[in-house]
Amino acid sequence: MSTQEQVRPTDGERPGRQAVVNPATGETVAWVDALGPDDVAVAAARARAAQPAWEALGFDGRARVMRRAQRWVVDHRDELVRTIVSETGKAWEDAMIAEVTYGAAAFGHWASAAPKLLADERVKVASPLLVGKKVVVRHAPVGVVGVIAPWNYPFTNGFGDAIPALMAGNAVLLKPAAKTPLTSLLMLRALRECGLPDDVLQVVTGSGSRLGDPIVDAVDMVMFTGSTEVGRGIARRCADRLIPCSLELGGKDALIVLADADLERAASTALFYAMFNGGQTCISVERAYVEASVYDAFVAKVAERAATLRTNDPTGPGATDVGALTVPEQLDVVRDHVDDARGKGARIVVGGDEDEGRPGWWYPPTVIADADHGMRCMTEETFGPTLPIMRVADADEAVRLANDSPYGLMASVFTKDVARGEEIARRIQAGTVHVNDALVGYAALEAPMGGWKDSGLGARHGREGIVKYTATQTVVVARLALRREPQHYPYDGLVHKLLGGLVRAVYGRGGRG
Ligand code: NAP
Ligand code: MG
Repeated sequence: MSTQEQVRPTDGERPGRQAVVNPATGETVAWVDALGPDDVAVAAARARAAQPAWEALGFDGRARVMRRAQRWVVDHRDELVRTIVSETGKAWEDAMIAEVTYGAAAFGHWASAAPKLLADERVKVASPLLVGKKVVVRHAPVGVVGVIAPWNYPFTNGFGDAIPALMAGNAVLLKPAAKTPLTSLLMLRALRECGLPDDVLQVVTGSGSRLGDPIVDAVDMVMFTGSTEVGRGIARRCADRLIPCSLELGGKDALIVLADADLERAASTALFYAMFNGGQTCISVERAYVEASVYDAFVAKVAERAATLRTNDPTGPGATDVGALTVPEQLDVVRDHVDDARGKGARIVVGGDEDEGRPGWWYPPTVIADADHGMRCMTEETFGPTLPIMRVADADEAVRLANDSPYGLMASVFTKDVARGEEIARRIQAGTVHVNDALVGYAALEAPMGGWKDSGLGARHGREGIVKYTATQTVVVARLALRREPQHYPYDGLVHKLLGGLVRAVYGRGGRG
């Protein structure tokens, strides 16, 4: 079946279709195709056939499509939010802040940044063997990029990665999470309205365990966002094929509050970015370390704010502060982490009690005080609306504990002494570190965002975020071509003397190359 034919999900159950459920209500909102390995092969072949013409459009031609798509996102923002909310159960504002805003920015950013970041670069070279020759570095599209995406941000994490891949001249095979395919299907329709040629982008819907291997086997590069466990498997399979992959994986982001911090700002920021999107953000604040002298005051400020948070159905703007959990498995993890902490002596100062009868998947915003590293909530990714807080003696202990993690995605330090904050930031093992802020570094499309340690490989955004979708080619041109270079055969003794003299002249004083 053509992957282009499923753009409008039908609302009836049929064999070979999977349900999309609204996690806030438990109601089925659509049925989409559950594709199989053969469909992936067909989609990949079509993508491969469509790619050369797309590449031939050049940056300007591709950017025109992207700029139209940017306007589409702005004009259809409510439709986009409604679709995202219907399959994730998140608050409307979560979708507006982290997905619509991101999408509108990303189409424009890559349209204008791609030609600069991927422009041919004339390189100055020092070797005497290259005197008079032109050396140019160029970036060719890899061909077909496979994007495999998680369910927490159906637009930003997933479709968002297709944008730079397309701008680099590639065709894309996009596999959204099985639970959240509707946003990708909507955006595929949007891009085609905006002039994207047939088959350049293919959305393959279905389960990762069935489609993952066939996708990796059919593409030239994989961009994966999801769990560390699945990411490792993808890296192994890519290694067998000797194709590159870029991995954005799990996180356990630490937030450090020093004694001289603005406690109002620290508490507000910690709570917001712990609960934002129901805590289902790879870069959410997952744990806080607070210097002893301000610990009680910080906990009190966080608790006071947390107690006011509403968890209503996300029926429209302003309806709720915190939305639902998007997948039921997540509810088990969050519950286990809170129960484990409670059992080991932590204080649940807000939340922790579930509304048993409620349809959909909900967990209340929960603040855990007196946590420590013997508890799972401080060492394993929770990915839910929880904020565990631990008392520390000083900044050194906070840094040591922040780094005592297999993950290294983002982190935060709060202090009024910003110079000291920056110094501490540089000691934290994470791809992005904030001083007096959290999470928003993600919006810096101009700067790389990627994980250290088990949080990933490679980066999205910045130069790295588009160069990775290309194969680098160095072109060497001998313009004023002599009939014979001095070093060519025969070796009559002159070569030795000539090169010896050149080596002495060029490198003899230890200055060059
Ligand atoms: P996941 O279970 O790893 O799934 C991610 C994607 O991989 C889904 O599309 C999934 O398909 C697919 N998949 C599953 N098994 C596969 C296999 N064997 N081969 C290939 N693909 C396979 O992750 P998730 O639960 O959706 O997302 C949550 C995780 O993502 C968290 O750990 C979070 O921290 C991480 N994340 C990281 C970032 C970042 O930028 N670093 C951003 C967002 C999320 P199905 O949906 O069909 O299972
Ligand atoms: Mg969280």
